[in-house]
Amino acid sequence: MNNDMQSQPESDDGVCARNYAPLPVRLVRGSGVYVWDDAGRRYIDMMSAYSAVSHGHSHPELVRVLHEQAQRLAIVSRAFETDRLIPFLKRACSMVGMDMALPMNTGAEAVETAIKAARKWAYRVKGVAEDECEIIACEGNFHGRTLGAIALSTERQYRDGFGPFMPGVRIVPFGDANALERAITPNTGAFLVEPIQGEAGIRIPPAGYLSRCAEICRAHNVLFIADEVQTGLGRTGRMLACDHENVRPAGVVLGKALGGGLLPVSLFLARRDVMSVFTPGDHGSTFGGNPLAAAVGLAALDIIERDRLVERSAELGDYLLECLRRVHSPLIRDIRGRGLWCGVDFAPDRIHARRVAEALVQAGVLTKDTHETVIRFAPPLIITREQIDEAVEAFVGVIQTLESG
Ligand code: PLP
Repeated sequence: MNNDMQSQPESDDGVCARNYAPLPVRLVRGSGVYVWDDAGRRYIDMMSAYSAVSHGHSHPELVRVLHEQAQRLAIVSRAFETDRLIPFLKRACSMVGMDMALPMNTGAEAVETAIKAARKWAYRVKGVAEDECEIIACEGNFHGRTLGAIALSTERQYRDGFGPFMPGVRIVPFGDANALERAITPNTGAFLVEPIQGEAGIRIPPAGYLSRCAEICRAHNVLFIADEVQTGLGRTGRMLACDHENVRPAGVVLGKALGGGLLPVSLFLARRDVMSVFTPGDHGSTFGGNPLAAAVGLAALDIIERDRLVERSAELGDYLLECLRRVHSPLIRDIRGRGLWCGVDFAPDRIHARRVAEALVQAGVLTKDTHETVIRFAPPLIITREQIDEAVEAFVGVIQTLESG
């Protein structure tokens, strides 16, 4: 994402930290799969806030739940019990087959929670000597921007200028289960993995990789923790991306779509023996699990199930991939995807993905480049076939123009 550091829009008057380089559009309103800019122009959102808007913008039922809960009780902190948290956690645990859950807000915070749980589990349950625990992560991973998460990162820009880093990290190539097995030592607490690497450009590992890694982790008493912040809750056409290989992780990280496109809501979910290492005072968050977030999170999960958003993602994802694969161009070197999550990989010697994303904005389609060569299509899971056609048609026009230009 080095290109994210490009010039800032003039409108910002220098007040905003330059940690993003937004595409040239100023959005003021959203509804369903569409958003509108300040000139009233409509765009189809094929990015959905990096999968946080799976339900579509301002889902009326979620907005109603948010509004009603805000009027009733919004924030009290975990110093007190509320009537909203437990139903939410029960529902989340039952939908992803976990025993217990710990609520946080952002994806990165839930990843930090997973790392803390793994370390404490390693010391208290596995018997690793204090301060010796190792976490194995994959090359090319993206687990967020906190210090713990960037300690796992192999992306130079994400780390540059932010050291020193958390120790106890080992990196293995993504997609190579043998490398994982070789990296495991008696001090390994957990293997943290995105089942499909999103920020890396929708990198899908070889078939059998996840199940083999899970087997290796079981054999060596290492926790297999799936970071499903982006892949989870239907994005890849299954509830969890791990479900594609019938893998039941020891822990799962969820975020993004859990907030129904309205709030930051995240969870670390795990087996009972893992989560039981936490005792009162060990870990927490002022806002994590607040009634407003819990009410919206529960409704978001209900809608995913009731409206069959996972099945929709599988069906319409196949359709989207099929449509994209019909686009043949010398600019494109690969098109891949699973569920409503597709990456179009451009030949770096022909074009920069940012240029494609900018041209798509002009054509009324919002998406985002990653790693200079890939643009992602990750629309709200409520998208229809006709809306997919609309986006693909615009994409075809853009590719033709860029080819000739
Ligand atoms: N983990 C994964 C796999 C992600 O894709 C992301 C965000 O893109 C995160 C963690 C961090 O989530 P957040 O930006 O909510 O902190």
